[in-house]
Amino acid sequence: MDYFDRMARDSHEAVHFFRDAATGYRCILAVHDTTLGPATGGTRFCSYESEVAALEDALLLSRAMTRKAAVAGLDFGGGKAVILGPDPSAGAGGQEPALDPDNRESLFRVHGRAVESLAGAFLTGPDIGVGPEDLRAMATETAYVAGATDDSPDLAELTSLGVFQSIRIAVEHAFGSYDLSDVTVAVQGVGAVGQALCELLVAACPRVVASDVDSARLARVAEQLGMEVVGPDAIYEVEADVFAPCAGGGVLDVTTVNRLRAAVVCGAANNQLADERLAHRLRRRGVLYAPDFVVNAGALIGGTGELEGWSSEEIERRVRAIGDTLQRVLETARQLDVTTLDAAVRLASARVRAAG
Ligand code: NAD
Repeated sequence: MDYFDRMARDSHEAVHFFRDAATGYRCILAVHDTTLGPATGGTRFCSYESEVAALEDALLLSRAMTRKAAVAGLDFGGGKAVILGPDPSAGAGGQEPALDPDNRESLFRVHGRAVESLAGAFLTGPDIGVGPEDLRAMATETAYVAGATDDSPDLAELTSLGVFQSIRIAVEHAFGSYDLSDVTVAVQGVGAVGQALCELLVAACPRVVASDVDSARLARVAEQLGMEVVGPDAIYEVEADVFAPCAGGGVLDVTTVNRLRAAVVCGAANNQLADERLAHRLRRRGVLYAPDFVVNAGALIGGTGELEGWSSEEIERRVRAIGDTLQRVLETARQLDVTTLDAAVRLASARVRAAG
């Protein structure tokens, strides 16, 4: 890979590589754009097929964070940290000690020091594979981490609230009614966000169908909430009005888009489209795609709100306003006759340009 060309393609400002021999910590921290303010973005901890795949994830996720903050009206830029999980094929090249996934406290303290070394140029919080204990370990080394105290807002809950508000708006655009009382939703992934979203949905919709690769977790959540379940691959073909991806990224490719039965895609997962050109295919098929970085800004709003000292009422007000932002995106798409993704990117870019 030609690294500087790749950075230039999406105008990334910086990529930091951190390592620690004692813990086997390897982290790629991408800063996309700081025109609006310091870069903010979660820390992800997972295994990758290769170091290049990890870099690509950090680059795409940090770009999404710039767009997310800009569209949400926040004065922050976009960044993302990915810590490479234990994967022998990930290319440590035999130079590094194996990462010990059970020694999480040391690992995340090292990560906290890495974040601290950037002196506030990057603010972080949780993402896939990073839990409250990890955040607390980081917070012993840096002040630039959200979600680390008992008083911290529940970021997954805030994300689910923003997605729920967005589902209402998207349903209104697609079917002409804000009411969810005859709407079926298929939820992919009942992790932290998916479960919280399902709790909101079962209270508002007659039918919620869920999938998860963790079948024990799925069974537990489904029983608790009274939901139908399907296998991981069957979720795309559920006769639903809304498909809510709340698992990993890249789940919508040519094949899955063609299999979709739902008329609305609105969920929490970051980078849902395997290729952004799929926004056109979704539109041609009459599927309303609610851009992920617009609807899943709840955690970003909660995390930055915590670091900025906003009250919980102010944070909730701003998260509920995600529905208004989506409304603006959908109206812009209609007026300009462009995809919803295109409309959202235009709104984000216009805000960054105006500040630059
Ligand atoms: P999580 O790790 O708690 O939950 C993800 C769930 O998806 C797990 O239960 C996992 O078993 C399941 N899963 C994985 N692959 C699957 C598949 N192919 N089919 C069905 N289920 C699958 O993560 P989370 O915090 O709930 O985040 C979910 C998504 O939302 C991620 O893409 C994350 O980046 C994004 N997101 C999360 C937040 C947040 O506040 N946590 C904020 C913005 C975006």
